[in-house]
Amino acid sequence: MRRGSKMIGVLDLQGAVPEHLAAIKKLGYAGLPVKTPADLDKADALIIPGGESTAISRLMRENALFKPIRDFSRKRPVLGTCAGLILCASEILGQNEDAQKVAPLGLLDCAVSRNGFGRQANSFETMLSMDGIGDDIPAVFIRAPYIERAGPSVKVLARISHAGFHGVRIVAAECGNVLVTSFHPELTGDLRVMDYFCSKIPR
Ligand code: GLN
Repeated sequence: MRRGSKMIGVLDLQGAVPEHLAAIKKLGYAGLPVKTPADLDKADALIIPGGESTAISRLMRENALFKPIRDFSRKRPVLGTCAGLILCASEILGQNEDAQKVAPLGLLDCAVSRNGFGRQANSFETMLSMDGIGDDIPAVFIRAPYIERAGPSVKVLARISHAGFHGVRIVAAECGNVLVTSFHPELTGDLRVMDYFCSKIPR
């Protein structure tokens, strides 16, 4: 596959868009900011970045992207990182009744705990082993969600335990074309997760 001929779309409504575009470029692919359904049509894969899931969800509806992204995910790969994971999920747990609600896309069968690792002050970096991707992968968690329930169709790729909480949390998973991470794989020099995602693009 000639990497440069493949367009990786990054949903460009709010959040870590430039960081993803930079990582895509480093891997030798072409990056495409996606703001409209017409942009999405040109993409071979789509990244839903980290940011603020309430804002991204609202803008996604305003730009009429909700159904086009769902349809896209049936044929082409989608990566959701952090807020993007929240948006890809089928269920969001613990949404405050008074706060602005996030409507998820339901691209894979999982329930996420939003801000499950706590607020900004609880952000952290750790090393992960990811099934099929590798070991010692640095992962940056920023007000990160985790997957509390993964359905039978979902393959868990990484779990972590941490001094700040009891037990083990699912932080990466995939279901066919859809890959999700609690953390920001675009923020470190180690681009193995991004590369793995791009390898899902059909030749
Ligand atoms: N906590 C944010 C949210 O709920 C996600 C944070 C992130 O993407 N780094 O949208």
